[in-house]
Amino acid sequence: MIKSWIFLCIFIVFPGNQSRFLLPHVPDVLHPPVPDDVRIDTNGIELEDLDPEITPGLYQGDMALTNEIYNYWRVGLKWETFPEKMWPNGTVPYAISPLYEPSDQVTILKAIRILNFMTCIKFVPWNGKSEDYLLIWPIKYPKGCWSFVGRQGGVQIVSLQAPDSTSPNCLGTEGRAIHELMHALGVFHEQSRWDRDKFVKIHYDNIIPQYKPNFEKLSLENTTYSFEYDYDSIMHYGKNYFSKGRGKPTITAKMPGVKKLGQRKALSKSDCLKLNDLYNCFDNPRTRRKYYNLCNFMGI
Ligand SMILES: [Zn+2]
Repeated sequence: MIKSWIFLCIFIVFPGNQSRFLLPHVPDVLHPPVPDDVRIDTNGIELEDLDPEITPGLYQGDMALTNEIYNYWRVGLKWETFPEKMWPNGTVPYAISPLYEPSDQVTILKAIRILNFMTCIKFVPWNGKSEDYLLIWPIKYPKGCWSFVGRQGGVQIVSLQAPDSTSPNCLGTEGRAIHELMHALGVFHEQSRWDRDKFVKIHYDNIIPQYKPNFEKLSLENTTYSFEYDYDSIMHYGKNYFSKGRGKPTITAKMPGVKKLGQRKALSKSDCLKLNDLYNCFDNPRTRRKYYNLCNFMGI
């Protein structure tokens, strides 16, 4: 009750907040990068119960990655290896496509306000001058919810497919927007951690063969984790992702009592801690106390 009241007070959002500045032309068709050795032939692939985070051809379904990043990553980008991928001072300018309905803009703004509130990262409306900024846009192809990982430099698309007559797509709740924005901040999927086999079972027989590479895990040397494996992470796959069909889960929990994988409702406590850790929000004792308390109190 207290939680929902606080959220109500904090996340009052205002529609029609698209950028006042001239936005660049965005083509209908984009070709986001995918690492060579996991490139998937998308010809004729139809996925049953297509989840909007499962875009044929993109790495792990929703990430645009370069070979370079693919070779050196962890649960979050390693800043020692990719200092340029971090958003300086944790400041992320953004603009939202005017193609979205006001209600969809509200959903996107909710996601942004939640991240701004729970972490020291600052999403700020693009001022028309900063060279690097996120442009949140309903890309036509590849459609779905997808993002680059970390700061790319220049204008950087976060694709959030708008609701249509068949599905809420990426904007049924703010959760999917938070998920893709976390990729843009430099965070990868939880189940790709090197230690994941202790916590989840991957059912390779149930995965559409072309998509098996999406379930690989990371190497230990490129991985440093400060936090426990998190079944509740908003960055965790759902149990039927890339499945051959109904009743054929591709990923299940090994620990008893785990009810759901792949929630897209809210940041988990660990997601919150992870982001604050990644952007050095815990370095200063004052912000450390503030954000630790927030993560502990607000996380699911
Ligand atoms: Zn993702």
